[in-house]
Amino acid sequence: MNFKGIIKGLHHITATVSDAQEDYDFYTKLLGQRLIKETVNFDNENVYHFYYGNEIGAPSTIFTTFPYKGQRVKDGIIGAGQVFETVFSAPKNSLSYWESRLKNHQINFSKIKLFGKEKLTFKDPSGLNIAIIEDADDNRSPVWKTNEISDQENILGIHHVVLAISNVEETLQFLKVFGYEEISREGDYVQLSTSLGGAGNSLVVMDATGLPKGKNGIGTVHHVAHRVEKLEDSLKIKDYLVNELGLKVTEVKDRKYFQSIYFRIPGGVLFEIATEGPGFLVDETNEELGSSLKLPKWQEPHRARIEAGLLDYKK
Ligand code: ZN
Repeated sequence: MNFKGIIKGLHHITATVSDAQEDYDFYTKLLGQRLIKETVNFDNENVYHFYYGNEIGAPSTIFTTFPYKGQRVKDGIIGAGQVFETVFSAPKNSLSYWESRLKNHQINFSKIKLFGKEKLTFKDPSGLNIAIIEDADDNRSPVWKTNEISDQENILGIHHVVLAISNVEETLQFLKVFGYEEISREGDYVQLSTSLGGAGNSLVVMDATGLPKGKNGIGTVHHVAHRVEKLEDSLKIKDYLVNELGLKVTEVKDRKYFQSIYFRIPGGVLFEIATEGPGFLVDETNEELGSSLKLPKWQEPHRARIEAGLLDYKK
């Protein structure tokens, strides 16, 4: 049994971060992503939920954050059982552009070569590990254009995430069932992809020996979401995970822009399975995306209270 082809690839990555303004500035101004949705954490209305992505917020281009500053949430520890690094994809011949851009903005970075590709690795303002890799085969569009970054250079979406894992072989077995197959190995790293393959449909498993155990909190990735076409696919997978593998899987949660289930994989990382639809145009036009606070209809009656409780930031 495996879910090859049913799990298409990544949907989004969600991180717990600190300050809303710092986060907004970093992902939109420095990294040139579009804020495609401004809403609140559906499980905590005092905290924003920012969705960044390409021009239309296509699944696999989405990086989302909860800015928890002032909410008495402790700093986390990036370690085993977590997403270690989120790697963004940039167009052919754009890496030197990103290198000078990071330099000009006084962001310290390292250059690392892995699986034949160079990547720039650096930290976001909350301490998350971020990287940019060039991928000539990545043709996701439409790319967001900013005043400073053209669509020849701007980020195309999430390329892959690196998972820090203590029990590598057991986790690889699980990921194979889930729909990610091994492509190659290099040192402590194993590269995997779904049957679609390539940018947005890949994972890297890193042996976490020597790393502390990961602890959820500010500066860590909370979960990684994988995409399926429709809810029946999620339910089919849930049935297998619960009945055949004995994993605990949540009920379906209505996230308004997609429907989700959550579970922890044997390596400890929190996974989500999210539907591709209905998408971010359900409550805004393409032009309006991210321009004002959107709430699900069950929170709309409390809009005044919710708006008053959120920290200010400037777009
Ligand atoms: Zn999510």
